[in-house]
Amino acid sequence: MALRNKLHSLPKADVHNHFHLSGAVELLKEHYPDVQFETPGSFDGFDGMMHFIIQHVNALMQSSDDVIMLMDIGIRSSINDNVKHLEASVDLGLKKYFDNSLEALINAVGQLKEKYKTEIDFRPEIGIKKSSELDEVYRDGIVCIESEVFTGIDLYGEESYQDLSGFKEIFQEARARSKKTKVHIGEFSDAQSIVDAIETLGPDEIQHGIRAADSEETIQLILDRKIRLNICPHSNVALKAVSSLKEHPMRKLYDEGVIITINTDDHLLFNSTITDQFEDLIQQGMFTFEEIDEIRKNAIQGF
Ligand SMILES: [Zn+2]
Repeated sequence: MALRNKLHSLPKADVHNHFHLSGAVELLKEHYPDVQFETPGSFDGFDGMMHFIIQHVNALMQSSDDVIMLMDIGIRSSINDNVKHLEASVDLGLKKYFDNSLEALINAVGQLKEKYKTEIDFRPEIGIKKSSELDEVYRDGIVCIESEVFTGIDLYGEESYQDLSGFKEIFQEARARSKKTKVHIGEFSDAQSIVDAIETLGPDEIQHGIRAADSEETIQLILDRKIRLNICPHSNVALKAVSSLKEHPMRKLYDEGVIITINTDDHLLFNSTITDQFEDLIQQGMFTFEEIDEIRKNAIQGF
């Protein structure tokens, strides 16, 4: 308990967080007492997770008010874990709950930023699915890049061997306006897919990227480009991207000198805070307290 209290009390940053999926289940139940919402503990890969989201999360979202509530619950859950700095992606597909008004979605996010500004440094990111129509990505993406609300861009979705070159231009636009660029890659896909994503998009940071551990060349490229890997250990185990925490390649990446951070991904789905993960990693002998503290500071340093 002493360890847990100590870890909880430390100021933290969460830099891999999908905003409307980032709430604690207890908080969700307070606001939706009639809803049966149980997280399964593990999922049948990415497809299993998507199936759960469609069945259980999307069912909660009847209107823009529900989306705003899920995001509000998310930010409060971060505050409750003493997260002082939060980079969370806002899925642009959520605009459909706002009568397809991108402006209304941006305003809602801006209002949450304002509402909690004394408690948390919240930096919303433009969340884009790899399966999105490119013309829509460009049209909506530019509006978001030009808005004051967003500080970064994050590309995510299924990691099949998709050619990401269609997103090159929107990443360039984001970079030209000093937005931080992130791409999800190398959670399920191999080390070469990480190299391809780096060469195509030139991201500042990679979300997951854990399969880099399988290739010394990929690790070297990450080190040369000083790319930080924003890892979510409990998510990786729950989605069976790694068989157990003990087998997690983050230890190897850390030992090779890669800058890593530990994050929630989707608190609502994996039922795990940053404190929970810090505690588990120390208790399972993966990292010492001092190492976890260094990893914690890695995340804060990006702010
Ligand atoms: Zn993610």
